[in-house]
Amino acid sequence: MSTAPAPRPVPRAGVLAIEAYVPGKSAVPPGVKLHKLSSNENPLGPSPKAMAAFAAAAQKLEIYPDGAATRLREAIGRRYGIDPARIVCGCGSDDLLSLLAYGYIGPGDEAIHSAHGFLIYDIAIRAAGGTPVVAPERDLTADVDAILQRVTERTRMVFLANPNNPTGTYLPFSEVKRLHAGLRPDIVLVLDAAYAEYVRNNDYSSGLELAATADNVVMTRTFSKIHGLAALRVGWAYAPAPVCDAMNRIRGAFNVNLPAIEAGIAAMEDRAHEDAAVVHNAHWAAWLTDALRGIGLDVVPSVGNFLLVGFPRGGGRDAAAADRYLAERGLVVRAVSSYGLPDHLRVTVGTEEANRLVAETLRSFMAAAPAHG
Ligand SMILES: *Cc1c(COP(=O)(O)O)cnc(C)c1O
Repeated sequence: MSTAPAPRPVPRAGVLAIEAYVPGKSAVPPGVKLHKLSSNENPLGPSPKAMAAFAAAAQKLEIYPDGAATRLREAIGRRYGIDPARIVCGCGSDDLLSLLAYGYIGPGDEAIHSAHGFLIYDIAIRAAGGTPVVAPERDLTADVDAILQRVTERTRMVFLANPNNPTGTYLPFSEVKRLHAGLRPDIVLVLDAAYAEYVRNNDYSSGLELAATADNVVMTRTFSKIHGLAALRVGWAYAPAPVCDAMNRIRGAFNVNLPAIEAGIAAMEDRAHEDAAVVHNAHWAAWLTDALRGIGLDVVPSVGNFLLVGFPRGGGRDAAAADRYLAERGLVVRAVSSYGLPDHLRVTVGTEEANRLVAETLRSFMAAAPAHG
């Protein structure tokens, strides 16, 4: 005898089509020292001043934070010479990307991202009820023409990570301006500049100037990477006033917690710590790129704090085998097949010890006799 199943709550159309985000792993065999190189975290950790501010905030946990994160926005405004009224803070920049999608995208609408763009865009677009449209890349780099060709009358938003994660590649500002010039003024261009501080190329810009002057450009930034505060979940957007207004209406009333506000202010003011992280990264990213190329691996030129490393297919030397080999030795990196890159691994630039160990371990991986089977 069969009975019809009892009715039960069903999510909105499209929700179950979303692939949940799978963060970088952090487990290694017992007794092996862990080097977590899977989430582009800062190997130097946060500013000691940010840690002190976080600790001090522990004395005031019964009080709601300032829902507008006013002092944090003022600190960011001072640092970058921009109007705090045009800054919105969020629970990580992921929060801000979702708010932008919820504010501007609905069922029937489209939003464009590039083929190997950050996975959160696809989730945010679908969660808002919209349809993601994927633009192919050229040489693992966003392609402005491919993006512009995919604009339709239903397009509401374009997401561009610049530099991009997981490829580490970037578009020069001239290309970002060309992209902006080619978009209708009612389409929001979101420039996700999570790694902006690491880029030292003269032809790069985070998009701050464009967000300052254009009515349809938003730049997002994060405290999770250069500032080493990933655990606190805090990011910020610099946006035209009407976009800030929309985001402020729909954001969580207290979407940035007090310890995050206090640590964020201290981090923003500690230029020396930020500079040290940039210097460390520039040195070790170049060192690791050379070392891995020297053992025959294909390293995509990166301007971020991570490298996308290509492995040979088959012969026991592929990316999946390398991932296992590294993890067994305490080196946890990021598999990127969910980004459509099954032959690559993304390796965060770590401490000197971790970087040397990555190079040494991959050298022995490439030299070892091919695995059976
Ligand atoms: C890490 C990262 C972010 C930051 O996310 P948070 O939510 O601020 O931790 C945003 N965009 C890209 C492309 C990233 O890689």
